[in-house]
Amino acid sequence: MSNSDPILIVGGGLGGLTAALALAHRGHATRVLEGAPEFGAIGYGIQFGPNVFHVFDRLGLREQVLAVADSPVALLMFDALDGKELIRIPTGASFNARFKHPYIVVHRIDVHNVLLYACRRHDAIELVPEAMVMGFADRGDSVAVATADGRTFTGAAVIAADGVRSLFRAKLLGDGEPHPVGYAAHRTIVPMAELKADVPRDCVVLWGGPGFHIVHYPLRHGSLFNVVAVFRTGTHGEKGDAASHLAELQRSYRDAQPAMRDLLAMMEITRRWQIGYRDPVRHWHRGRVVLIGDAAHAALQSLAQGACMAIEDGFCLAELIHTSAGDFAAAFRRFEAARLLRTARVQLESRAMWPFYHAEGIARDVRNATVADWDERHLFACLAWLYDGAPLPAAAGG
Ligand SMILES: Cc1cc2nc3c(=O)[nH]c(=O)nc-3n(C[C@H](O)[C@H](O)[C@H](O)COP(=O)(O)OP(=O)(O)OC[C@H]3O[C@@H](n4cnc5c(N)ncnc54)[C@H](O)[C@@H]3O)c2cc1C
Repeated sequence: MSNSDPILIVGGGLGGLTAALALAHRGHATRVLEGAPEFGAIGYGIQFGPNVFHVFDRLGLREQVLAVADSPVALLMFDALDGKELIRIPTGASFNARFKHPYIVVHRIDVHNVLLYACRRHDAIELVPEAMVMGFADRGDSVAVATADGRTFTGAAVIAADGVRSLFRAKLLGDGEPHPVGYAAHRTIVPMAELKADVPRDCVVLWGGPGFHIVHYPLRHGSLFNVVAVFRTGTHGEKGDAASHLAELQRSYRDAQPAMRDLLAMMEITRRWQIGYRDPVRHWHRGRVVLIGDAAHAALQSLAQGACMAIEDGFCLAELIHTSAGDFAAAFRRFEAARLLRTARVQLESRAMWPFYHAEGIARDVRNATVADWDERHLFACLAWLYDGAPLPAAAGG
């Protein structure tokens, strides 16, 4: 085995596919091992800040992504109890002028397909579905991974893009499951034509209330409407019966504005996602194995940036592998140095925003009084560290 063997990428989510594509652009062969029967994404919406376009531009995917995306008019936050607008971040001309790229919302399947089709056009990328990795052995000059069905794949190195419950993280860091935050989410997409709730349809809206919030936005050129309802819960299961989930939702949102309760009435509530977070750690690699995306630095979704970080990671790592000329240890150290502070800040700020969204009592009064002074200039300045993008390794050079 040698460095000319393909690099193994475990996990065909947005982080893994971005890494594969960026490596292929630099002439490196990869084999992407995905545990699911097919490469695909769960069917809900996703928000992308303008920072992600720095990567899409470098991969030549800007137009394809824009073709399947919606550009909201603004990002709004409402107080869920009295319905007052608290924060308005316009995402039109002034936003585009300031951040040079748009804010978009897109069906996750559509953006995943843009990356997937681009991967399929590259001979250097082999996509292997139904390859659930169960273990690995770092042999010093190569890595072998074993799948659940008894196959072994060997590669020059492993990029573990296997998500928030990463097997590779468990083996490298052994720090257990993500910390539960005591909240769960239900997600739903409905045809826009069936939306009865009196809410803005062309914006990303967050309604924040004590122990709950709801986020909603349009998808597929305004034909669909995506809703995520997040609430405090003592339950831990991801599946349950609709009647008990409904009773819990009605209790959680009893003081919410009528429009929010109309939104809840449309929701599919059998399946829920438990919400967890990880604390930042300094090191994401050992030997020839490196973690990226949620496997390395899963965050609460308060900033809607987890997938953006996974995409930035995938691109940055690929460029550093390319410029490290076969020295994977050096590439992985540079990758950690390049990405640690930015991703840790996303993790920490996302945590800090959680009580801000769910403020109650005097904390809610303080929040509402504080944000009353926040104008566009102030909000753009607060978001600049994130939306201006990360320094990516230089475009030119071999
Ligand atoms: C409710 C909610 C809303 C969110 N909204 C946003 C948003 O608006 N914007 C945003 O940027 N982020 C958002 N996020 C975060 C985002 O979903 C994640 O950060 C992102 O998907 C991480 O990408 P990834 O490639 O690291 O991992 P994943 O997308 O989780 O992909 C991991 C892949 O690895 C595969 N896999 C796992 N284990 C194995 C194995 N052992 N062998 C082989 N394959 C394996 C999985 O099947 C999967 O395909 C949200 C998250 C939640 C929960």
